[in-house]
Amino acid sequence: MRLTRVIRITTLLLACVALPARAQSDGADTPPEAATGRVTKHLVTAKRHMVVAADPLAAEAGRAMLRAGGNALDAAIAVQMVLNMVEPQSSGIGGGGFLIHYDAKTRRMAAWDGRETAPAAATPERFLVDGKPLRFGDAVASGLSVGVPGVLAMLEAAHRAHGRLPWQALFAPALRLADDGFPVSQRLAELIASDTLLSKNTAARALFHHPDGTPLRAGETLNNPELGRVLRTISREGAKAFYQGDIAADIVAAVHAHMRPGDMTVQDIAAYQPRRREVLCSVYRTQHICGMPPPSSGTATIAMMLAMLERFPLAKMKPGSLEAVHLFSEAGRLAYADRDRYLADPDFVTPPLAQLLDRNYLARRSALIRDDRSLGTAPPGDFAGAQAFGDDHTAALPSTTQISVVDDDGNAVSFTSSVESAFGSRILVRGFLLNNQLTDFSLLPSSNGMPAANRVEPGKRPRSSMAPTLVFDAQNRLRYVLGSPGGSMIINYVAKTLVGLIDWKLDAQQAADLPNFGSRNRTTELEAGTAAEDLAPQLRARGHAVRVLPMSSGVHVIAITPGKGLSGGADPRREGVALGD
Ligand code: GLU
Repeated sequence: MRLTRVIRITTLLLACVALPARAQSDGADTPPEAATGRVTKHLVTAKRHMVVAADPLAAEAGRAMLRAGGNALDAAIAVQMVLNMVEPQSSGIGGGGFLIHYDAKTRRMAAWDGRETAPAAATPERFLVDGKPLRFGDAVASGLSVGVPGVLAMLEAAHRAHGRLPWQALFAPALRLADDGFPVSQRLAELIASDTLLSKNTAARALFHHPDGTPLRAGETLNNPELGRVLRTISREGAKAFYQGDIAADIVAAVHAHMRPGDMTVQDIAAYQPRRREVLCSVYRTQHICGMPPPSSGTATIAMMLAMLERFPLAKMKPGSLEAVHLFSEAGRLAYADRDRYLADPDFVTPPLAQLLDRNYLARRSALIRDDRSLGTAPPGDFAGAQAFGDDHTAALPSTTQISVVDDDGNAVSFTSSVESAFGSRILVRGFLLNNQLTDFSLLPSSNGMPAANRVEPGKRPRSSMAPTLVFDAQNRLRYVLGSPGGSMIINYVAKTLVGLIDWKLDAQQAADLPNFGSRNRTTELEAGTAAEDLAPQLRARGHAVRVLPMSSGVHVIAITPGKGLSGGADPRREGVALGD
């Protein structure tokens, strides 16, 4: 019975998933933003279901699944496949990601880890030349940086556990775009034009440029039939078509053909295993903040920050005010100090998570925060036996993507997906880009004679900052689904959005609109061109070393108001939209 119904739904889907023209973008009243610009977006409300994603075509694909009776996980997979086409700079099957799933019926959550892994031949000295780390840009654009892609295996495993529509149906919107082509977005066009490394890869040059070498412009049609063929095969045969056979062989060949070749083998790819982990939750005021445990440092670091901020009356402070930015930055310094030193892949090191999240420890850390003066650089806590971490190269690169979904039954997905930097390693294989996620490892194997917790090791997952997040209220009702791209700034972006939602009672759009600010235990970072920038002199007077810079978050929030429905907000700094019914 069930099967017949499912098959009927699939047929329906394949037949009538209509995709909108790029101009249509609910929630945004001006054309998609420039890579560095900002667009005014409005709160989108819905009664039944909602998707927020980084491209209108992708959000539309997710909504089409929900309209066809699919659930949140089905929608998230369809969104990912379309994003691979239309936002290739950010995520795709050549990358990895973390997905938090909430099942409304059982009230259970699952944390799905599709993080890339280091090849079996990898050593801690991977990124060293004559004892010195490679230039970061050289490490990124190399075969060395490519981790075994994890996102597809993870999505397939999550689909087996939670999906409703057949796997094949989830690919229909992406396949249509592969067949018909689609207009290049403003942001993609700007990133192609400004990226000096992309055109060095012959296949990437051919895909993203005209035959005369000029980059594709916004609105021009991008055709990616090679990726279409790959996705069609995966839709029919499952992820094994990617992990075993000629696609895997092509990935290995491309990694080895690079002038700075990698050592990945087809055995590495065949051996890839996604992990289902326990969700990490903490309480902030009355809300339960749940997300990804290590190997992501995201949720744990956010938990530390919020716990340290809890004793301050943030609700009484104006959003983005001097007082709030000062306190938030100080909590950031203290939390990032511990993150930098202690957090890494739990299959290889044992992060002292319980100690780091202990309320008494965090109260002692919070007591170090002064109202009138910055700490400068905060020292990490001292945990005997824990391993030291060396360095952190993760910059705020305009890559990675956040998918937030709530379905008709109240199931939810928060999924952050990434190829690491924009266009990943810049190695294109059969129409998809390979990640450079291994540069999230410490490039230095040790620091001050201590091994780095996040050093490269065979089969290990590089530490991440991605923080797909679900928030539940005191009655355990799901209230928010959110997350953001932004490298190691993700932690500050998501923590700040949570303060916006919980303390400042902002709606989903206002929370995504908030100027970005915070500290990763170096300078205090203020978003250029926003009100946050104006705080620089006063923060300097309190001893903050201030840096004003573009901070291109991509916060995608769905708020659930019990009895009232859903509302969604998309970050004004990128091209995302919220769509719902
Ligand atoms: N590779 C980063 C991480 O896992 C994400 C990159 C980004 O957000 O741009 O933390």
